[in-house]
Formats: sequence, structure tokens, C-alpha cells
Amino acid sequence: MILKGIAASDGVGLGRAVCVREESLDYSQVPYSGKETEKARLLAGIEEFGARTSAMADRIREEVGQKESEILTGQIAMLADPFMRSQMQEAIDAGVCAEAAADSVCTMYADMFAGVEDEMMRQRAADIKDIRARLLSILLGTAGVDLSALPAGSVLVARELTPSMTVGLKKENVAAILTATGGKTSHSAILARALQLPAVLSVPKMLELVKDGDGLIVDGSEGVAVLNPDERTRSEYLIKQKEFQEKTAALEIYRDQPTVDADGTRYSLYANIGSAAEAETAAQSGAEGIGLFRTEFLFMDRTSLPDETVQFEAYHAVSKIMAGKEVIIRTLDVGGDKAIEYLGMEKEENPFLGHRAIRYCLDRPELYKVQLRALLRAGAEEKNIRIMLPLVTCVEEVRAARDLLEQCKKELAEAGIPYDADIALGAMIETPAAALIADLLAKECDFFSIGTNDLTQYTMAVDRGNAKVEKLYSPLQPAVLRSIGNVIVAAKEAGIPVGMCGEAAADPRLLPLLMAWGLDEFSVSPSAVLATRANIRRWTGTDAALVTDEAMGLSTATGVEGYLRASVNK
Ligand code: PEP
Ligand code: MG
Repeated sequence: MILKGIAASDGVGLGRAVCVREESLDYSQVPYSGKETEKARLLAGIEEFGARTSAMADRIREEVGQKESEILTGQIAMLADPFMRSQMQEAIDAGVCAEAAADSVCTMYADMFAGVEDEMMRQRAADIKDIRARLLSILLGTAGVDLSALPAGSVLVARELTPSMTVGLKKENVAAILTATGGKTSHSAILARALQLPAVLSVPKMLELVKDGDGLIVDGSEGVAVLNPDERTRSEYLIKQKEFQEKTAALEIYRDQPTVDADGTRYSLYANIGSAAEAETAAQSGAEGIGLFRTEFLFMDRTSLPDETVQFEAYHAVSKIMAGKEVIIRTLDVGGDKAIEYLGMEKEENPFLGHRAIRYCLDRPELYKVQLRALLRAGAEEKNIRIMLPLVTCVEEVRAARDLLEQCKKELAEAGIPYDADIALGAMIETPAAALIADLLAKECDFFSIGTNDLTQYTMAVDRGNAKVEKLYSPLQPAVLRSIGNVIVAAKEAGIPVGMCGEAAADPRLLPLLMAWGLDEFSVSPSAVLATRANIRRWTGTDAALVTDEAMGLSTATGVEGYLRASVNK
């Protein structure tokens, strides 16, 4: 059976399905088995919670750091509190099952902490919610698949791929990824590309169709999966997989080559990363810098805010790994599709148009300043960090961020802490508003980076994760192309550097246009670095300009797409 979805990460993977289903924490059908039995179940559950959490803490200590693991050891201590335990036992005495007892006591504490103004207390509420969910899943026996112990050749089948799923994931055991939701630029897609695993997203009814152990082929380049393939199909795809591997290997010759076009004009070719650990991969990929560090992943995969030290360590590590090369770090881009539960953000009718990214951060200066200080300090030695603001829509936002940055500098200077006094501050151009006032923003910013993932979404008024409207979601739409062209020209006129860190920077069809307009820097996922370098080297300035003129004279995305495809393949 052929399953069609969105091609999100190149390559072909063959293996057996491992389904990661969402856990149900519904205990309404669990019978009450008497005081003693329920108390024994509760204690066994708490013990199991301790064992699992401490194993998780050990893993995180090794892979992420001591601070992060302390969150988990703290949770074990909370649940070991004799008072909390006796409250659960009292609930059982009153005639409810272990699950209901755990739920009611945890919920009571979570509500109590959540109602307090203090940030620390609110974080504790998030911890208790996390304890509640994990303890309930243990008691109910629905605790999910252990992704660190997958057998080799697993095809991960899930509703979506989240950052926490990728912690501890043994990449070498995963053949491919299939998800039921997400578009080309969703976080599932970005994570799959960062892991360099083939992925097909938004496969309709996938979680009903695929069972654990089913044979699966995933063609991440074509957006197709084959469920329980026959031998012939398997052989065909094995050949395709080999071809893909050979093509990838052939790009190796570009690893140490400069990024120049056929005339010798130089471009910067950077990589996008989501964690300090990925900076190593980026450095090995042949990238000449980091064009986007998505710091929200540092905030997402945990139950409380990363403090200044945790943030400093992450940014400093990237700065060191990329010493002598530019590192553009984007400040917290929270909200929209990126929920962070412990921040207690309110549910919104239109989260993509809501209180998110720079808007949220400027309204929480105490939280934002922690990040700005960590960034200023992390750049003190190498002086290679640049700060980038997400979702800018007006000049006031840049000014307000700059004011906070200046306040942070002053505080650091007063405390005698070293920092980079000349750190550059730039804006992502990812909203139509920012694109329309690019000339005004250019006067306030040290650099621009075009975020085509959101710029396409907002310009076309099309949800980037919604497969039903995927047809309209293309950077080759004339509206998006005009917008990109105007931004680059505005930056050139103002004399500031302009890059692109949205996924379109790796689109070979768009390259001649970006080059002709004068884009300075391309930032792509590490897996796309070498192919992008090879593609840039094929164009002369004259050819790129001719193709750009022709493409910009066309009035439909289909026309532009057909024309550019033909030009690229010439
Ligand atoms: C973008 O919007 O183009 C971008 C690079 O940011 P993100 O994908 O994280 O929204
Ligand atoms: Mg964006």
C-alpha cells in the first residue's frame, strides 16, 4: 500500500514500524481494589517512577549537562516527600484507586504553585504536572516506547516528532521517520533534517493504518511511503537508496572548497542548528558559520526555565566550536507552533498571530534579559556571536530590544563581568510588515536574515503546518519572491549584510534569484551544506541575472516553478 505525504527530509529508509502513540491518562475505568492493594500499587508506581527518572537523569547528565539532570533528580525528591505520599494514601483510604489519588494530590499542588506570582514557584507547578503525567502512565501501564532502546532498522511512526523524542534517540537505529502532521518547515521536518534521517510528514490516517512491526519503506525525497512492500518493491527501493547514498558521497569533493559562483564571487554558507550538540555536526558539514541557532529548543526540552548559566554554557559552547566563524543566535521564538508549558502562556484563538516571539519576550523583560546577558557573556572571548530577533514587525520592537541589551551591558560592566560590547543585533525578516518596512528596519539593525518559512506563511496567509493548504505554501509564489527581492535590495541600499535562514535558502531553484539580488549569506540545514555549495558554483552572475529577470516576469507559482526547474536542470 502506498502512503502519500509531504517530502520533508531527503533519502530512502527501509525498516519496521515502531509506533509512538499518544498516551491516554484516562483512569475512569480502573476499579478500586481495596485499600491495601491500591496502596501497594501506588508505592510500586512511585518506586518505578524513581528508577526510570533516575536513569533518565543519568542519560541527560551525560548528553546535556549536570544542571538539566538536576531538574529530574529534583522531581524524584518531590515525590519522595512523606507528606505528599501520606496525602495520596489518605485519598486511597477514602475509597479511590491509586491513579485517582495520585492525580488529585498532584493537581492540588500544581494549582497551588501555579497561582503564585513567583517564577520559581510556577516552575515547580510545571514539575508537578510532569510528575503527575509520568506517574499516571506508569500506574496505568501505558508508559511510552523507550526511544533510546529502539531495535536497529526502526521506522519511527508518530503524530509528530518533538525535541524531547530526539533526546537519547539512537540515530543509527532509526531508518526513517513518518508522521501524521507537519509541513515542510514544521519542527518535525527541521528535526528530521538535523538528524539527517529520511522523513515523510502529514500522511493521512497513518496512525490507524500502520501497526507495530509492519514493513515500511520511506522515500523522504518523493514524499512517499510503502506499507508492507513486496520483495520487488523492496529491491527497487534498495537501488534508489544506494543511488542516494552515492549522490551524497559524490558531494564530498565540495567540503573544503570555497563557496563561490562560477565567476569567483564569494558567498557565505552557514548552517542552522537547534542545540549546542548540533554545532559539531554543523562544523563537520563544511558550514562556514552558524546562520541560525534556534534557542527555543533549549527552552522546550525541560520543565523549567534554563537559567543564565545553562544558557551561557550552550551559547559559549557553540561560540567555541565555531571559533573564528560567525554564530547568529536567535532569541527565544516561543509561541505559535512552539509551546513551552512551564511558561504558563495562555491559550490563544490565533497563536500564530498572537503573543509570541519578540512580542512575548519584550513583555517579560526579566526573562528576556537573562538570555541577552547570557549571549553578551558567551561572545566575550571569540566575539563571533550575533543576536537575532524573531518575528519583528515594527521599528519599536528593535529599539526596545536594543534598550534592554544596553541595560544588560551596563549591568555586566558594573559587575565586572566580561561581555562583547560590540555584539551585533539583527532582525529576522519573516513577516510581511518587516518586509514592507525593510528600509526603515535596515537603519536600526546591524544585519537581516530572511526567514522564508514564516514569510511564506504570513505573506500567503497559509498555515505552514497544514497539509490541506500546502499547494499555496511556496516561496516561489510571485508575492513571496517580490518580498524577498525587496528585502535584499533594501539591505544592500542601507549597506547591511543580508542572509537567509529559512528552508528556501537550500532550494536550488531559488538560488540564481538570491544570487542576482545580492544575498550575502545562505544558512541551510547541515545536511544541505555541500549540495548548496555545489549548486552555487554552477552559476555565473550573468546567467543568474537573466534567469531572475525571466522568472520575475512570470505571474504564477506554477509558471515560476516550471521555468526555474528547467533552468536549473539545463
Ligand atoms: C523561518 O521562519 O523561516 C525560520 C527560519 O524560523 P522558524 O522555522 O524557526 O520559524
Ligand atoms: Mg520563523
